[in-house]
Amino acid sequence: MYWRFSIGGIVQGVGFRPFIKKLADELKINGRVFNSEQGVVVEFAAERLIAETFRKRIFDEKPSAAWIESFVKSSEQDLKIGDGFSIDPSMNSGVLNLRLTPDFKLCDSCIEDLKTHPRRKDYAFTTCTICGPRFSIAKGFPFDREQLSISDFKMCADCSREYIDVKDRRFHSQTNSCKTCGPQLDTYPEAPKGTNLIEEAVLYLTQGKIIAVQTTTGFLLMADATNEKVIERLRSRKNRPQKPFAVVYQDLDHLAEDFKIEENQAELLCSAVGPIVLLESASNTKLANNIAPGLNEIGVMLPSNPLVYLIIQQFSKPLIATSGNRGGSPLIANIDEAKLLLEGIVDLYLYHHLEIVHPMDDSVTKMVGDHPIIIRPARGLTPNYIGGTKAGNNTVIAFGADMKAHYALFHEGKCYLSPYFGNLESFEVQERMKFSLRHLINVLDLIPQEFLIDVHPGYFSRALAESFSNEFKVPLKSIPHHQAHFCSGLADHGLFQKKTSILGIILDGVGFLEGEKLGGAELFEYHQGEITPIEVFSFYPIIAGDKMSTETRLSLLSIYPDSKAIPGLFNHVELELYHKLRMISKGRIRSMGRLFDAAAALLGITQINSYEGEAAMKVEAIAARYLKHHSHYQPKHFKVDYGFESYLRAIEDGIEEGRSIGELALNFIATIAYQLVSFALKNQYKEVVCSGGVFQNGLLIHFIEDYARNVQINLYFNSISSPNDSGIPIGQLYHNHHIN
Ligand SMILES: [Zn+2]
Ligand SMILES: [Zn+2]
Repeated sequence: MYWRFSIGGIVQGVGFRPFIKKLADELKINGRVFNSEQGVVVEFAAERLIAETFRKRIFDEKPSAAWIESFVKSSEQDLKIGDGFSIDPSMNSGVLNLRLTPDFKLCDSCIEDLKTHPRRKDYAFTTCTICGPRFSIAKGFPFDREQLSISDFKMCADCSREYIDVKDRRFHSQTNSCKTCGPQLDTYPEAPKGTNLIEEAVLYLTQGKIIAVQTTTGFLLMADATNEKVIERLRSRKNRPQKPFAVVYQDLDHLAEDFKIEENQAELLCSAVGPIVLLESASNTKLANNIAPGLNEIGVMLPSNPLVYLIIQQFSKPLIATSGNRGGSPLIANIDEAKLLLEGIVDLYLYHHLEIVHPMDDSVTKMVGDHPIIIRPARGLTPNYIGGTKAGNNTVIAFGADMKAHYALFHEGKCYLSPYFGNLESFEVQERMKFSLRHLINVLDLIPQEFLIDVHPGYFSRALAESFSNEFKVPLKSIPHHQAHFCSGLADHGLFQKKTSILGIILDGVGFLEGEKLGGAELFEYHQGEITPIEVFSFYPIIAGDKMSTETRLSLLSIYPDSKAIPGLFNHVELELYHKLRMISKGRIRSMGRLFDAAAALLGITQINSYEGEAAMKVEAIAARYLKHHSHYQPKHFKVDYGFESYLRAIEDGIEEGRSIGELALNFIATIAYQLVSFALKNQYKEVVCSGGVFQNGLLIHFIEDYARNVQINLYFNSISSPNDSGIPIGQLYHNHHIN
């Protein structure tokens, strides 16, 4: 009997065809396997029972990086099947409909090869069928070598032998290369001929210098993470006074010397994604103390690619690994750009000549209890969104929000999310996003039918969408910002079909509501395809426009002008001016982010947000530290109403009573959680979706979960998309399809 398996999901560039061939050989099945534009197809001859065993073993034993999303088994009449089992060339039907393979973190077998393999010892581009760059170097799909930028480097005889040897673990490895035939490293300034360039880079690091390292996803800036002076220099050169840096450790054992790592955090760090994971920092680490000023958590990761691995093995101390760019600009991906844009920041460039098609930052995540939170979806997590239900039949492109530029698209039943590009305020970020989107439109050969944008009239993403809209003659539809957040949570958990009403609690910095109103503390009810806003929190005057999001004292003045702290935070002239601005302001805002800012100003935690969310993160850090030192402390809830000034008044009373900043910060966060759960309880909601950037706050999540558990309310947090604006384009797509 003849059979065909059509397998969809992440099945290309993960060693899937070699795996099928080995399994078929073992079962003595004749047939073939090939990539198609829908995934992988297996055609073979076998008795029914053997075919069933084959199917079952594919599911049970598939390669670690593979993910089967769909599997269709059909019996066929007249397949021409010869002797043996072959891997055939890809069949291109013209309709591309497959998951695009993300990049995979360096695997353990390749780490071994970096130490001992005759042609790959110290070779910075070592890959195999289960690890290495994928989407970042793909010019087209299916995932075949001709479509990859590595095809500029022709495989040598040895590599070709591995490629056709079914017993080799690089059998059909599309990214295969070695010292003889693959990309080579270079430095700038140029080193004398014969210099070992990894040693050269390590020498610079040892001397307390800053180097730019080009991995296969883009440039990283690296420096000794134990050297306070070099970090200070990096901060001043990058004009980044406070924002935390990520740190890379050579392996889990070294990481465990400095951090307490839970099992689920270790799993995440070692996963094929290999993201940055935020971990609670211990007090006596080797790390310099200016890596994450005022914060409790430090972002750490393990080497995701061979080049970083080789550098850190030799350096044998943790390294700062931060995106190679200028603040707000896109990640730099080629050496000419790097020399131009990183001049004055970097002392040495270590680079190569493998073209990076889709540059990607490292993904950033953290674990809160047992659920992961995605803070920045990029390398390893994009370009697929694997969640939710269908978002319709049309081909739709969502342009997201400005501060965290991403696009998402829905096509042929699949949802894709671009990597993070940066802040769309930057012209280069706009260009990068345009290029990437155009590329994907071409590669997937799709004809967009709808474009989705945020309701904000001044967003750059809207202008970008308008230009695409003119070109493709496709209508624009705007989606309310906070409703998009809500829908990202509903999509992650597939809740659109629920019969009961669902409460949406959306807390973030700021999103456009209507007219002169901005929101950031929005409640909604979802009921069978309808979203209804619930008016709960009060509005406050917007003072001095965007300045309000950088100066925390302005939020305090806006919400609680009678605060006794105000005179100490402004000089006479300022006070008169800002009071006047407050009086005449027509703009109104209610924002949980701004309430955190006001609390930070009142508690004397920070007067400036030098990066997005700084005040809120520092309030959380101080509260978390207090809880750590008083583990039996039961938070005292403030007496509050739905006006934010009641929170600030309670904090002020606490200060007068002589309570510590930590205790007040903790009670502040606990009160927010308590008030929200009480609202859900009073209004009889049993299902609650929490989204928006404020839900990156681990302590807030902890308290909400704690209170909700006691009253049997089911909570849902973003788990596949990000709760912050990186999740907006996903929310836009699902809103468009599911909300009337
Ligand atoms: Zn590998
Ligand atoms: Zn080779």
